[in-house]
Amino acid sequence: MGGKGHLFILSGPAGAGKGTLRKVLFKEVPDLVYSVSCTTRLRRPGEVEGKDYYFVGKSDFIDMIRNDAFLEWAEVHGNYYGTRKSDVETCLDLGCDMVLEIDVQGSRQVKTAMPQAIRIFITVPSIDELENRLEDRGTETQDQMLLRLRNATFEMRYAGECEHTIVNDRVERSSRELIDLVLEYRNK
Ligand code: 5GP
Repeated sequence: MGGKGHLFILSGPAGAGKGTLRKVLFKEVPDLVYSVSCTTRLRRPGEVEGKDYYFVGKSDFIDMIRNDAFLEWAEVHGNYYGTRKSDVETCLDLGCDMVLEIDVQGSRQVKTAMPQAIRIFITVPSIDELENRLEDRGTETQDQMLLRLRNATFEMRYAGECEHTIVNDRVERSSRELIDLVLEYRNK
């Protein structure tokens, strides 16, 4: 499996700014394809079906697991998330560069299936900083936030396994680092 395109995996704890850096990356670098995941999580205000996620019911998600539709899937913070195999295969076979923004469990599964995948871990200077950012974002309840912070301490240990780590201290600087990294692979 795997064609000519590059497969970039962005992972890191919730609140580290993966989504923000990814948006800048897509604005600055042409011809990147974002892998839209399936999730059983409820849609947040402003999220668009088919652009942010494919929002599916739990039984449909389980059917997709049974039909081997996922390149990877995981239960993250109490909801299911998965990357459709066909989306990734089609994109890479066409020679397109693709970006996955998925959790650590999913990143490990993809790396096993596709060793050429380039894992970029996005992290924060400290756990305190993460807590501040999650509070500022305000999209989670207190319980959800505590769960995400608890998971973050485990997720942080994954940085050492990844090909690259970016510490998101300032968006402008960190997004530049991400852009340069992607362009470096593309121009190799
Ligand atoms: P959120 O609910 O905040 O959109 O995402 C929660 C976590 O799920 C984030 O770490 C996000 O990267 C991860 N995630 C999103 N899509 C996928 C996916 O397809 N697979 C896996 N394993 N994780 C995903």
